[in-house]
Amino acid sequence: MSLLEIQNLRARYGRVEVLHGVDLNVEEGSIVALLGANGAGKSTLLRAICRAVDTSGSCRFDGVDLSGRSTAAIAHLGIGHVPEGRGTFADFTVEENLRLGAVSRTRARSRRETDADLELVYETFPVLREFRRRQAGALSGGQAQMLAVARALLGRPRLLLVDEPSLGLAPLTARDLFDRFTGLRDEWALTVLLAEQNAKLSLTIADRAVLLSRGRVVHDGPSGDLATVDAVHADYLGAS
Ligand code: ATP
Repeated sequence: MSLLEIQNLRARYGRVEVLHGVDLNVEEGSIVALLGANGAGKSTLLRAICRAVDTSGSCRFDGVDLSGRSTAAIAHLGIGHVPEGRGTFADFTVEENLRLGAVSRTRARSRRETDADLELVYETFPVLREFRRRQAGALSGGQAQMLAVARALLGRPRLLLVDEPSLGLAPLTARDLFDRFTGLRDEWALTVLLAEQNAKLSLTIADRAVLLSRGRVVHDGPSGDLATVDAVHADYLGAS
């Protein structure tokens, strides 16, 4: 079943349209890699799903029409967004950042429930437990990215939109982070839409790959297919 169904989605910044009628389905429990070169529109597509940019077209989450809803209301429905640049608070501790992630829950939760979720997150990202009293600004790039993902998890999303998580990370650190996404899919039953320029890395974990070029979908299929037609798409994927 499709958890997210997008039809003819258009998005604009002022007068400039940058998504020109995107169709995309994301199956529940899958990882979908959204690939494309710099400026293809990947970040804008994630923002358009959250209604954080001027948007038209149809976007349904678990059958619910997202049009006319605020970004906050969309988060409450169960869509977590990890923006490029992470968006955590540098002066707050790791644990304070995580607790802030619990604020966008569908309903008010007790401290005990939040503590239980924190425990789950710490099991997935043990380094965050180790550094829980450290300021977020003192974390390494890989740890900061884990914090950004973990903070979104505290909102108990069903769908996680992650923007360029490998950006600025050393290859081994990025590999480690990506392996955790498969854990989240399998153990948290999470659905992940992953916008990435690093196609090679994304294709190792994705079930499906969608290729964007200049605001249009130019390929959509099982990730294995894209690996085999890599050369054909070299122009779209750039160096990665
Ligand atoms: P990147 O990997 O560089 O983030 P991307 O595939 O995510 O690339 P977008 O950031 O969605 O691409 O950008 C798509 C187009 O929209 C680009 O032409 C970009 O210049 C333009 N754009 C992005 N953000 C804005 C903005 N806030 N105002 C105006 N134009 C924007």
